[in-house]
Amino acid sequence: MVNCKGKSAKSCCSNQVPLDYFDNMISNCLEYAQSAKAEGKKIVGIFCEYTPREIIMAANGVPVCMCGGSNQTISAAEEDLPSSICPLIKSSYGYAKLKANPFLEMSEVLIGETTCDGKKKMFELLAQRKKMYVMELPQKADDPDAFRHWHAEIVKLKEYLEKEFKVKITDSKLKEAIKVMNEERRLRKKVAELAAENIPLLSGLQILNAKSLISGMPEDFRMYEKILSGKSACPDERRGSGRPRILVTGVPMPHEAEKVMKIIEDAGGAVVAQENCTGLKPIYEDVKETNDPLLAIAERYFHIPCSVMTPNKRRLDLLDKLIKQYKVQGIIELVWQGCHTYNVESHLVEKHIKGKHKLPYLKLETDYSPSDSGRLKTRVQAMLEMITHN
Ligand code: SF4
Ligand code: SF4
Repeated sequence: MVNCKGKSAKSCCSNQVPLDYFDNMISNCLEYAQSAKAEGKKIVGIFCEYTPREIIMAANGVPVCMCGGSNQTISAAEEDLPSSICPLIKSSYGYAKLKANPFLEMSEVLIGETTCDGKKKMFELLAQRKKMYVMELPQKADDPDAFRHWHAEIVKLKEYLEKEFKVKITDSKLKEAIKVMNEERRLRKKVAELAAENIPLLSGLQILNAKSLISGMPEDFRMYEKILSGKSACPDERRGSGRPRILVTGVPMPHEAEKVMKIIEDAGGAVVAQENCTGLKPIYEDVKETNDPLLAIAERYFHIPCSVMTPNKRRLDLLDKLIKQYKVQGIIELVWQGCHTYNVESHLVEKHIKGKHKLPYLKLETDYSPSDSGRLKTRVQAMLEMITHN
């Protein structure tokens, strides 16, 4: 293992090239989307991890995540949306309103689901600008009728895309897309493990940034392989052994909304696992490679333990596994202001963490504005000190 302590990371860390590549994620994706569109592929905007990317890919589509992480687009969104809803919804909508998201502008269709109320109703406003298809997501995760309905919604999405894009989505195309997505999930999981080594090889922030808005980009796969084959440690100030090992849970942190991750790691914590939709939650389980690809897709996506499900026991099960696997010493839950489902569920998460695992738990409720960073930092520092001195 190369140890680049004392030298600049740029000069000796073999992970620097792939990490630099992901620093240019937006332009990489733009280039990819433009050439895919020129080749006749359809750009499809998605807003949630329940959207089955494999079906879009099998329909000759390119699924692009449209979740906004910028604070800059929120004031425009607040002209139409209540200021009290979550910043992720406002930011995403603000991009659309300002025509500031090139992917959204070049998309043929947007796909959403009935997840939280804010998103679901925001889709109705988006539908005034773009073709919008909404899948009905049943929310009783363990109810067989709910699953049957979800499976029917998956079949309906396939039929919709076939009609819309004038293609035939065959089982073999679906199986091919499943293979690609399973490989992406495998590579991302392996890369995520690098933050969990005793001397973490990558920071939590680097893991968060090492992915793209578009799934299945071959160049991303090459870069993941490069990171995994390099495996060179850069134990700089932010990483290194002896730092409290933190699991971050809660809401997703889209591109540019990494504020809390930076605060935790700058305060001396090592974020070794991320139980959220920009982390391990959507990549933890693969789609089974069976003879009924639509059923396998329906099963795997229905297992995503989002707080819109009730009850959401699978999230507690996933937390149990991650706490053990990543030798976690403390849990920080991030809740975007206005996100009622994660906010209410945080009570159950806290009780579970403190009761079953006897670990410290801290909930941070915030938005995309940097105005409360000092206050958040103080609370994070207090938690990290408590772990260090225990
Ligand atoms: S947190 Fe829930 S609603 Fe948000 S992207 Fe994940 S699955 Fe979708
Ligand atoms: S963070 Fe919460 S309120 Fe915001 S889009 Fe996700 S589930 Fe909905």
